[in-house]
Amino acid sequence: LASQYLARIKSSDLNAFLHVDESLTLAQAAAADVRLAGGSAGPLTGVPIAHKDIFVTRDWRSTAGSKMLGNYTSPFNATVVERFNAAGMVHLGKLNCDEFAMGSSNENSAFGAVKNPWDKLAVPGGSSGGSAAAIAARLAPAATATDTGGSIRQPAAFCGVTGIKPTYGRVSRFGMIAFASSLDQGGPIAQTAEDCALLLNEMIGFDERDATSLTAEQGNVREDFARDLAKPLGGLRIGVPTEYFGEGLAADVEQAVRAALDEFVKLGATLVDITLPKTSLSIPVYYIIAPAEASSNLSRFDGVRYGHRAPEYKDLQDMYKKTRAQGFGPEVQRRIMVGTYVLCHGYYDAYYLQAQKIRRMIADDFQSVLGDKCDVIMGPVAPTVAWDLGDKSNDPVANYLADIFTLSTSLAGLPGMSIPCGFGQGDKNSKRPVGLQIIGNYFAEAKLLNIAHQFQ
Ligand code: GLN
Repeated sequence: LASQYLARIKSSDLNAFLHVDESLTLAQAAAADVRLAGGSAGPLTGVPIAHKDIFVTRDWRSTAGSKMLGNYTSPFNATVVERFNAAGMVHLGKLNCDEFAMGSSNENSAFGAVKNPWDKLAVPGGSSGGSAAAIAARLAPAATATDTGGSIRQPAAFCGVTGIKPTYGRVSRFGMIAFASSLDQGGPIAQTAEDCALLLNEMIGFDERDATSLTAEQGNVREDFARDLAKPLGGLRIGVPTEYFGEGLAADVEQAVRAALDEFVKLGATLVDITLPKTSLSIPVYYIIAPAEASSNLSRFDGVRYGHRAPEYKDLQDMYKKTRAQGFGPEVQRRIMVGTYVLCHGYYDAYYLQAQKIRRMIADDFQSVLGDKCDVIMGPVAPTVAWDLGDKSNDPVANYLADIFTLSTSLAGLPGMSIPCGFGQGDKNSKRPVGLQIIGNYFAEAKLLNIAHQFQ
Protein backbone atom coordinates (compact mmCIF):
# COMPACT_ATOMS: atom_id res chain seq x y z
CA LEU A 1 0.00 0.00 0.00
CA ALA A 2 2.75 2.44 0.99
CA SER A 3 4.71 1.73 -2.23
CA GLN A 4 1.63 2.37 -4.32
CA TYR A 5 1.01 5.73 -2.68
CA LEU A 6 4.70 6.63 -2.96
CA ALA A 7 4.55 5.92 -6.69
CA ARG A 8 1.46 8.12 -7.06
CA ILE A 9 3.17 10.91 -5.11
CA LYS A 10 6.21 10.66 -7.36
CA SER A 11 4.20 11.04 -10.54
CA SER A 12 2.03 13.87 -9.23
CA ASP A 13 2.60 17.48 -10.33
CA LEU A 14 0.34 19.12 -7.71
CA ASN A 15 3.19 20.23 -5.38
CA ALA A 16 1.19 18.78 -2.47
CA PHE A 17 4.20 17.12 -0.82
CA LEU A 18 7.24 19.02 0.47
CA HIS A 19 9.33 16.19 1.90
CA VAL A 20 9.22 12.51 1.04
CA ASP A 21 11.71 9.86 2.13
CA GLU A 22 10.87 6.51 0.58
CA SER A 23 13.28 4.47 2.68
CA LEU A 24 11.86 5.82 5.96
CA THR A 25 8.31 5.18 4.79
CA LEU A 26 9.10 1.65 3.66
CA ALA A 27 10.81 0.92 6.99
CA GLN A 28 7.65 2.00 8.82
CA ALA A 29 5.59 -0.14 6.46
CA ALA A 30 7.79 -3.14 7.20
CA ALA A 31 7.36 -2.57 10.94
CA ALA A 32 3.58 -2.39 10.43
CA ASP A 33 3.71 -5.69 8.54
CA VAL A 34 5.38 -7.30 11.55
CA ARG A 35 2.63 -5.98 13.81
CA LEU A 36 -0.06 -7.16 11.42
CA ALA A 37 1.49 -10.62 11.32
CA GLY A 38 2.05 -10.69 15.08
CA GLY A 39 -1.53 -9.93 16.06
CA SER A 40 -0.81 -6.60 17.82
CA ALA A 41 -2.32 -4.48 15.07
CA GLY A 42 -5.03 -1.86 15.57
CA PRO A 43 -7.55 -0.60 13.00
CA LEU A 44 -5.07 1.90 11.52
CA THR A 45 -1.94 -0.27 11.53
CA GLY A 46 -0.33 -0.21 8.10
CA VAL A 47 -2.58 2.56 6.80
CA PRO A 48 -0.56 5.38 5.23
CA ILE A 49 -0.95 8.98 6.42
CA ALA A 50 0.72 12.28 5.52
CA HIS A 51 1.20 15.19 7.88
CA LYS A 52 0.77 18.90 7.27
CA ASP A 53 4.20 20.47 7.56
CA ILE A 54 3.02 22.37 10.63
CA PHE A 55 3.36 19.20 12.75
CA VAL A 56 6.97 18.68 13.73
CA THR A 57 8.60 15.35 12.98
CA ARG A 58 11.90 13.90 14.10
CA ASP A 59 12.65 12.08 10.88
CA TRP A 60 11.34 14.49 8.26
CA ARG A 61 12.03 18.19 7.92
CA SER A 62 9.41 20.56 9.38
CA THR A 63 9.22 23.88 7.57
CA ALA A 64 5.71 25.27 8.23
CA GLY A 65 5.86 26.31 4.57
CA SER A 66 8.46 28.95 5.48
CA LYS A 67 11.97 29.77 4.35
CA MET A 68 12.60 30.58 8.01
CA LEU A 69 12.50 26.83 8.77
CA GLY A 70 13.74 25.69 5.35
CA ASN A 71 16.26 23.22 6.77
CA TYR A 72 14.76 22.61 10.17
CA THR A 73 14.43 19.14 11.65
CA SER A 74 12.78 18.85 15.04
CA PRO A 75 14.36 16.80 17.84
CA PHE A 76 10.90 15.44 18.74
CA ASN A 77 7.58 14.43 17.18
CA ALA A 78 4.33 16.34 17.67
CA THR A 79 1.92 14.47 19.96
CA VAL A 80 -0.43 13.89 17.03
CA VAL A 81 2.38 12.34 14.98
CA GLU A 82 3.49 10.27 17.96
CA ARG A 83 -0.05 8.90 18.42
CA PHE A 84 -0.40 7.90 14.78
CA ASN A 85 3.03 6.28 14.91
CA ALA A 86 1.97 4.34 17.98
CA ALA A 87 -1.16 3.19 16.12
CA GLY A 88 1.14 1.75 13.44
CA MET A 89 0.26 4.21 10.69
CA VAL A 90 2.81 4.59 7.94
CA HIS A 91 4.08 8.12 7.37
CA LEU A 92 4.22 9.10 3.67
CA GLY A 93 5.77 12.55 4.10
CA LYS A 94 5.07 16.21 4.83
CA LEU A 95 2.40 18.27 3.13
CA ASN A 96 2.64 21.76 1.68
CA CYS A 97 0.73 24.59 3.37
CA ASP A 98 0.55 28.35 3.60
CA GLU A 99 3.50 29.82 5.50
CA PHE A 100 2.83 29.32 9.23
CA ALA A 101 -0.75 28.37 8.21
CA MET A 102 -1.56 31.96 7.23
CA GLY A 103 -3.70 31.97 4.14
CA SER A 104 -6.75 30.69 2.31
CA SER A 105 -5.27 29.56 -1.00
CA ASN A 106 -1.92 27.90 -0.27
CA GLU A 107 -0.28 30.60 -2.38
CA ASN A 108 1.60 31.91 0.67
CA SER A 109 3.84 28.84 0.87
CA ALA A 110 7.52 29.66 0.40
CA PHE A 111 7.73 26.44 -1.61
CA GLY A 112 5.16 27.32 -4.25
CA ALA A 113 1.41 26.96 -4.49
CA VAL A 114 -0.41 23.64 -4.54
CA LYS A 115 -2.71 22.92 -7.48
CA ASN A 116 -6.30 21.82 -7.08
CA PRO A 117 -6.62 18.29 -8.52
CA TRP A 118 -10.10 19.05 -9.91
CA ASP A 119 -8.70 21.85 -12.04
CA LYS A 120 -5.01 22.61 -11.93
CA LEU A 121 -5.69 26.27 -12.64
CA ALA A 122 -7.58 26.57 -9.37
CA VAL A 123 -6.29 27.03 -5.81
CA PRO A 124 -6.76 24.07 -3.44
CA GLY A 125 -7.76 26.38 -0.59
CA GLY A 126 -5.66 26.94 2.49
CA SER A 127 -3.88 26.85 4.62
CA SER A 128 -4.03 23.01 4.57
CA GLY A 129 -4.06 22.98 0.74
CA GLY A 130 -1.50 20.18 0.50
CA SER A 131 -3.55 17.96 2.83
CA ALA A 132 -6.81 18.45 0.92
CA ALA A 133 -5.21 18.13 -2.53
CA ALA A 134 -3.38 14.95 -1.50
CA ILE A 135 -6.61 13.30 -0.36
CA ALA A 136 -8.55 14.43 -3.44
CA ALA A 137 -5.83 13.18 -5.81
CA ARG A 138 -5.55 9.91 -3.87
CA LEU A 139 -1.91 10.56 -2.99
CA ALA A 140 -2.73 9.54 0.59
CA PRO A 141 -5.77 7.96 2.23
CA ALA A 142 -5.49 10.15 5.34
CA ALA A 143 -3.91 13.46 6.24
CA THR A 144 -3.50 15.71 9.22
CA ALA A 145 -4.33 19.39 8.98
CA THR A 146 -4.78 22.40 11.25
CA ASP A 147 -7.58 24.94 11.46
CA THR A 148 -7.13 28.38 13.00
CA GLY A 149 -9.88 30.15 11.10
CA GLY A 150 -11.00 27.59 8.53
CA SER A 151 -7.86 25.87 7.29
CA ILE A 152 -9.27 22.35 7.55
CA ARG A 153 -12.79 23.10 6.36
CA GLN A 154 -12.14 25.47 3.45
CA PRO A 155 -9.48 23.41 1.61
CA ALA A 156 -11.58 20.27 2.19
CA ALA A 157 -14.49 22.14 0.55
CA PHE A 158 -12.40 23.40 -2.39
CA CYS A 159 -11.01 19.91 -3.06
CA GLY A 160 -14.23 17.92 -2.54
CA VAL A 161 -13.06 15.92 0.50
CA THR A 162 -14.08 15.60 4.16
CA GLY A 163 -12.47 17.41 7.08
CA ILE A 164 -13.30 18.07 10.71
CA LYS A 165 -12.00 20.70 13.13
CA PRO A 166 -12.64 19.36 16.63
CA THR A 167 -13.63 21.43 19.68
CA TYR A 168 -10.75 23.70 20.64
CA GLY A 169 -8.51 21.93 23.14
CA ARG A 170 -9.40 18.34 22.24
CA VAL A 171 -6.37 17.70 20.03
CA SER A 172 -2.93 18.40 21.44
CA ARG A 173 -1.12 21.42 20.05
CA PHE A 174 2.22 20.08 21.31
CA GLY A 175 4.56 20.08 18.32
CA MET A 176 2.10 21.97 16.12
CA ILE A 177 4.06 25.04 15.04
CA ALA A 178 2.06 27.85 16.63
CA PHE A 179 0.17 30.48 14.64
CA ALA A 180 -2.60 31.78 16.95
CA SER A 181 -2.59 29.61 20.03
CA SER A 182 -6.12 30.36 21.26
CA LEU A 183 -7.52 29.25 17.90
CA ASP A 184 -5.17 26.59 16.46
CA GLN A 185 -6.66 23.12 16.37
CA GLY A 186 -5.50 19.98 14.59
CA GLY A 187 -7.83 17.59 12.83
CA PRO A 188 -8.04 15.08 10.00
CA ILE A 189 -8.83 15.39 6.30
CA ALA A 190 -9.86 12.18 4.56
CA GLN A 191 -12.31 10.95 1.96
CA THR A 192 -15.22 10.22 4.26
CA ALA A 193 -16.66 10.96 7.68
CA GLU A 194 -16.06 7.33 8.59
CA ASP A 195 -12.34 7.67 7.88
CA CYS A 196 -12.24 10.94 9.85
CA ALA A 197 -13.88 9.16 12.81
CA LEU A 198 -11.20 6.46 12.86
CA LEU A 199 -8.48 9.10 12.71
CA LEU A 200 -10.04 11.19 15.48
CA ASN A 201 -10.12 8.09 17.67
CA GLU A 202 -6.32 8.34 17.79
CA MET A 203 -5.95 12.12 17.73
CA ILE A 204 -8.19 13.27 20.54
CA GLY A 205 -7.34 13.24 24.24
CA PHE A 206 -5.65 15.21 27.02
CA ASP A 207 -1.95 15.98 26.68
CA GLU A 208 -0.07 17.36 29.67
CA ARG A 209 2.47 18.95 27.33
CA ASP A 210 -0.16 21.34 25.92
CA ALA A 211 -1.23 23.97 28.46
CA THR A 212 -4.63 24.50 26.79
CA SER A 213 -5.39 20.81 26.30
CA LEU A 214 -8.83 19.97 27.71
CA THR A 215 -8.59 17.44 30.53
CA ALA A 216 -10.50 14.22 31.01
CA GLU A 217 -12.43 15.90 33.86
CA GLN A 218 -13.51 18.54 31.37
CA GLY A 219 -14.82 15.78 29.15
CA ASN A 220 -11.87 15.30 26.83
CA VAL A 221 -11.86 11.54 26.99
CA ARG A 222 -11.02 9.23 24.15
CA GLU A 223 -14.22 7.92 22.65
CA ASP A 224 -15.20 5.82 19.66
CA PHE A 225 -16.17 8.47 17.16
CA ALA A 226 -17.53 5.82 14.80
CA ARG A 227 -20.11 4.59 17.34
CA ASP A 228 -23.02 6.70 16.06
CA LEU A 229 -22.29 6.66 12.33
CA ALA A 230 -25.29 4.47 11.54
CA LYS A 231 -27.83 6.40 13.66
CA PRO A 232 -30.83 7.61 11.65
CA LEU A 233 -31.38 11.37 11.55
CA GLY A 234 -35.12 11.44 12.37
CA GLY A 235 -35.93 14.44 14.60
CA LEU A 236 -32.66 16.27 13.96
CA ARG A 237 -33.13 20.06 14.05
CA ILE A 238 -30.82 21.87 11.64
CA GLY A 239 -30.34 25.59 12.21
CA VAL A 240 -29.95 27.56 9.00
CA PRO A 241 -28.44 30.99 9.75
CA THR A 242 -29.82 33.88 7.69
CA GLU A 243 -26.38 35.51 7.76
CA TYR A 244 -24.84 32.55 5.89
CA PHE A 245 -27.14 32.94 2.90
CA GLY A 246 -27.01 36.67 2.28
CA GLU A 247 -25.18 38.99 -0.03
CA GLY A 248 -21.83 37.71 -1.26
CA LEU A 249 -22.83 34.05 -1.42
CA ALA A 250 -22.35 32.79 -4.97
CA ALA A 251 -25.47 31.38 -6.63
CA ASP A 252 -23.85 28.04 -7.52
CA VAL A 253 -22.70 27.49 -3.92
CA GLU A 254 -26.11 28.44 -2.53
CA GLN A 255 -27.83 26.02 -4.91
CA ALA A 256 -25.62 23.08 -3.92
CA VAL A 257 -25.96 23.82 -0.20
CA ARG A 258 -29.75 24.22 -0.38
CA ALA A 259 -29.99 20.94 -2.31
CA ALA A 260 -28.01 19.27 0.48
CA LEU A 261 -30.37 20.72 3.10
CA ASP A 262 -33.32 19.25 1.15
CA GLU A 263 -31.61 15.85 1.30
CA PHE A 264 -31.40 16.14 5.08
CA VAL A 265 -35.13 16.86 5.20
CA LYS A 266 -35.67 13.63 3.26
CA LEU A 267 -33.51 11.88 5.87
CA GLY A 268 -35.90 13.03 8.61
CA ALA A 269 -34.41 16.34 9.73
CA THR A 270 -36.23 19.64 10.06
CA LEU A 271 -34.82 23.01 9.08
CA VAL A 272 -35.06 25.90 11.52
CA ASP A 273 -34.33 29.52 10.57
CA ILE A 274 -31.85 31.00 13.00
CA THR A 275 -29.77 34.11 13.21
CA LEU A 276 -26.13 34.62 14.21
CA PRO A 277 -26.12 38.43 14.22
CA LYS A 278 -22.42 38.95 14.93
CA THR A 279 -21.23 36.92 11.92
CA SER A 280 -19.91 39.90 9.93
CA LEU A 281 -17.78 41.01 12.89
CA SER A 282 -15.87 37.74 12.84
CA ILE A 283 -13.56 39.04 10.09
CA PRO A 284 -12.29 42.18 11.88
CA VAL A 285 -12.19 40.32 15.20
CA TYR A 286 -10.22 37.36 13.83
CA TYR A 287 -7.84 39.55 11.87
CA ILE A 288 -6.97 41.38 15.10
CA ILE A 289 -6.71 38.40 17.45
CA ALA A 290 -4.92 35.98 15.11
CA PRO A 291 -2.19 38.45 14.05
CA ALA A 292 -1.77 39.60 17.68
CA GLU A 293 -1.08 36.04 18.82
CA ALA A 294 1.03 35.36 15.73
CA SER A 295 3.26 38.38 16.36
CA SER A 296 4.00 37.01 19.81
CA ASN A 297 4.43 33.37 18.72
CA LEU A 298 6.72 34.25 15.83
CA SER A 299 9.08 36.33 17.96
CA ARG A 300 10.96 33.08 18.65
CA PHE A 301 12.30 33.08 15.09
CA ASP A 302 15.18 35.40 15.84
CA GLY A 303 18.04 33.68 14.02
CA VAL A 304 19.56 32.55 17.31
CA ARG A 305 17.81 29.43 18.49
CA TYR A 306 16.87 27.72 15.26
CA GLY A 307 15.98 28.25 11.67
CA HIS A 308 17.33 30.74 9.19
CA ARG A 309 20.03 33.26 10.15
CA ALA A 310 21.09 36.05 7.80
CA PRO A 311 24.58 35.24 6.50
CA GLU A 312 25.86 38.82 6.89
CA TYR A 313 25.09 41.44 9.53
CA LYS A 314 26.65 44.31 11.44
CA ASP A 315 25.44 43.66 14.96
CA LEU A 316 22.75 41.79 16.90
CA GLN A 317 19.88 44.17 15.97
CA ASP A 318 20.91 44.02 12.34
CA MET A 319 21.03 40.21 12.50
CA TYR A 320 17.45 40.10 13.85
CA LYS A 321 16.22 42.48 11.19
CA LYS A 322 17.89 40.80 8.24
CA THR A 323 17.03 37.30 9.43
CA ARG A 324 13.33 38.11 9.79
CA ALA A 325 13.17 40.15 6.58
CA GLN A 326 14.72 37.28 4.64
CA GLY A 327 13.02 34.39 6.41
CA PHE A 328 9.39 35.54 6.50
CA GLY A 329 7.23 36.00 3.41
CA PRO A 330 5.04 39.06 2.80
CA GLU A 331 1.84 37.76 4.43
CA VAL A 332 3.66 36.70 7.58
CA GLN A 333 5.39 40.08 7.80
CA ARG A 334 2.04 41.83 7.32
CA ARG A 335 0.52 39.87 10.20
CA ILE A 336 3.47 40.52 12.49
CA MET A 337 3.08 44.24 11.83
CA VAL A 338 -0.69 44.24 12.34
CA GLY A 339 -0.35 42.11 15.46
CA THR A 340 2.37 44.26 16.98
CA TYR A 341 0.32 47.37 16.25
CA VAL A 342 -2.89 46.16 17.91
CA LEU A 343 -0.94 45.11 21.00
CA CYS A 344 0.85 48.46 21.34
CA HIS A 345 0.30 50.57 24.39
CA GLY A 346 -2.41 53.01 23.38
CA TYR A 347 -4.00 50.73 20.78
CA TYR A 348 -4.46 47.65 22.93
CA ASP A 349 -7.74 48.90 24.44
CA ALA A 350 -9.06 50.19 21.14
CA TYR A 351 -8.39 47.05 19.12
CA TYR A 352 -7.28 43.96 21.00
CA LEU A 353 -9.52 44.34 24.04
CA GLN A 354 -12.54 45.27 21.92
CA ALA A 355 -11.91 42.25 19.71
CA GLN A 356 -11.78 39.97 22.76
CA LYS A 357 -15.15 41.30 23.94
CA ILE A 358 -16.77 40.77 20.56
CA ARG A 359 -15.22 37.31 20.41
CA ARG A 360 -17.27 36.44 23.49
CA MET A 361 -20.42 37.84 21.87
CA ILE A 362 -19.81 35.71 18.78
CA ALA A 363 -19.59 32.63 21.01
CA ASP A 364 -22.79 33.72 22.78
CA ASP A 365 -24.57 33.93 19.40
CA PHE A 366 -24.02 30.19 18.99
CA GLN A 367 -25.05 29.36 22.55
CA SER A 368 -28.31 31.25 22.12
CA VAL A 369 -29.40 28.84 19.39
CA LEU A 370 -27.57 25.52 19.90
CA GLY A 371 -29.62 23.22 22.11
CA ASP A 372 -32.60 25.54 22.42
CA LYS A 373 -33.54 26.03 18.80
CA CYS A 374 -31.43 23.52 16.91
CA ASP A 375 -29.04 20.59 17.37
CA VAL A 376 -26.54 21.60 14.69
CA ILE A 377 -26.03 24.47 12.26
CA MET A 378 -25.50 24.08 8.52
CA GLY A 379 -24.42 26.43 5.79
CA PRO A 380 -21.74 26.94 3.17
CA VAL A 381 -18.05 26.61 4.06
CA ALA A 382 -16.99 29.41 1.75
CA PRO A 383 -18.91 32.00 -0.28
CA THR A 384 -17.53 30.78 -3.63
CA VAL A 385 -15.94 27.71 -5.18
CA ALA A 386 -12.13 27.68 -5.59
CA TRP A 387 -10.83 30.68 -7.46
CA ASP A 388 -7.95 30.61 -9.96
CA LEU A 389 -4.32 30.63 -8.87
CA GLY A 390 -3.16 34.24 -9.01
CA ASP A 391 -6.65 35.77 -8.95
CA LYS A 392 -6.46 37.01 -5.38
CA SER A 393 -2.78 36.60 -4.58
CA ASN A 394 -2.12 40.34 -4.50
CA ASP A 395 -5.23 41.18 -2.55
CA PRO A 396 -5.00 40.10 1.11
CA VAL A 397 -8.37 41.60 1.99
CA ALA A 398 -10.12 39.56 -0.71
CA ASN A 399 -8.59 36.46 0.89
CA TYR A 400 -9.70 37.52 4.36
CA LEU A 401 -13.29 38.12 3.22
CA ALA A 402 -13.49 34.56 1.86
CA ASP A 403 -13.15 33.29 5.46
CA ILE A 404 -16.49 34.76 6.55
CA PHE A 405 -18.31 31.46 7.24
CA THR A 406 -15.49 29.63 9.03
CA LEU A 407 -14.05 32.26 11.38
CA SER A 408 -16.87 32.48 13.95
CA THR A 409 -16.76 28.75 14.67
CA SER A 410 -13.04 29.07 15.38
CA LEU A 411 -13.47 32.16 17.55
CA ALA A 412 -16.11 30.29 19.56
CA GLY A 413 -13.95 27.13 19.76
CA LEU A 414 -16.75 24.96 18.37
CA PRO A 415 -16.30 21.84 16.24
CA GLY A 416 -16.96 22.31 12.53
CA MET A 417 -16.94 19.97 9.59
CA SER A 418 -16.85 20.23 5.82
CA ILE A 419 -18.32 17.59 3.54
CA PRO A 420 -18.62 17.60 -0.23
CA CYS A 421 -22.13 18.48 -1.47
CA GLY A 422 -21.90 18.97 -5.21
CA PHE A 423 -20.24 21.24 -7.70
CA GLY A 424 -20.30 24.77 -8.98
CA GLN A 425 -18.15 26.50 -11.52
CA GLY A 426 -17.84 30.10 -10.41
CA ASP A 427 -17.14 32.27 -13.41
CA LYS A 428 -14.89 29.61 -14.95
CA ASN A 429 -15.85 26.82 -17.19
CA SER A 430 -14.77 23.96 -14.96
CA LYS A 431 -16.31 21.75 -12.33
CA ARG A 432 -15.30 22.85 -8.81
CA PRO A 433 -16.45 21.22 -5.56
CA VAL A 434 -18.77 22.84 -3.03
CA GLY A 435 -18.53 22.10 0.69
CA LEU A 436 -21.34 21.92 3.23
CA GLN A 437 -20.41 23.09 6.71
CA ILE A 438 -21.84 21.37 9.78
CA ILE A 439 -21.28 23.12 13.12
CA GLY A 440 -22.10 21.57 16.49
CA ASN A 441 -21.85 22.42 20.14
CA TYR A 442 -18.72 21.68 22.19
CA PHE A 443 -17.81 17.96 22.17
CA ALA A 444 -20.38 17.20 19.43
CA GLU A 445 -17.84 15.59 17.09
CA ALA A 446 -19.56 12.17 17.11
CA LYS A 447 -22.85 13.82 16.17
CA LEU A 448 -21.28 15.77 13.30
CA LEU A 449 -19.68 12.59 11.98
CA ASN A 450 -22.97 10.72 12.27
CA ILE A 451 -24.78 13.42 10.29
CA ALA A 452 -22.06 13.56 7.65
CA HIS A 453 -21.98 9.78 7.32
CA GLN A 454 -25.75 9.58 6.80
CA PHE A 455 -25.42 12.09 3.97
CA GLN A 456 -22.45 10.33 2.38
N1 GLN B 1 -7.47 31.94 6.21
C1 GLN B 1 -7.26 32.19 7.59
C2 GLN B 1 -5.97 32.92 7.82
O1 GLN B 1 -5.34 33.24 6.87
C3 GLN B 1 -7.30 30.90 8.36
C4 GLN B 1 -6.04 30.13 8.26
C5 GLN B 1 -6.04 28.93 9.18
O2 GLN B 1 -7.07 28.44 9.61
N2 GLN B 1 -4.85 28.46 9.50
O3 GLN B 1 -5.60 33.20 8.90
